[in-house]
Amino acid sequence: MSKLAVVPGSFDPLTNGHLDIIKRAAKIFDRVNIVIMNNSAKESLFSIEERMELIAEVTGSLENVKVETSAGLMIEYAERVGAVAVVRGLRAVSDFEYEMQITSMNRVLDEEIETFFIMTNNQYSFLSSSIVKEVAKYGGNISELVPKPVEVALKKRYLAQ
Ligand code: ADP
Repeated sequence: MSKLAVVPGSFDPLTNGHLDIIKRAAKIFDRVNIVIMNNSAKESLFSIEERMELIAEVTGSLENVKVETSAGLMIEYAERVGAVAVVRGLRAVSDFEYEMQITSMNRVLDEEIETFFIMTNNQYSFLSSSIVKEVAKYGGNISELVPKPVEVALKKRYLAQ
């Protein structure tokens, strides 16, 4: 049976840190669904459609990876698509408490779906979508932090503002 993992997040926008986790998950699992969750209280810079397009463009060469969006509970999405696992990235101790809370709750909701954590590569441990937005907003160089299409989209967005 082919094993599917879900990589959930807001990806506003996708960074090289996200991409690293996605690529590593795609080596371990047969298939990976990136799912942009559409119920966050956070205000977003890019619409769900824009985020989907950017991710699809950047991950287009990864044959076993696709991108979807979902509202509601992430674990219900994972059940619906038949995932055996959820994969999250861990950067620092500060991520741990939040992730532990969510993982414990998800286990109460469905104990069959296992959550795996992939530790970030050292070079991305400081990297987050918010920090990238902050740097881009003030015209800083983000070429090492995000894939090219994301860099272009960020520049355009902040120029338009
Ligand atoms: P969320 O809003 O659910 O935290 P994000 O889009 O911020 O979603 O992140 C999605 C996933 O990617 C999370 O598991 C997060 O820990 C992970 N992640 C974010 N940035 C990095 C990074 N620099 N290195 C590794 N994992 C990361």
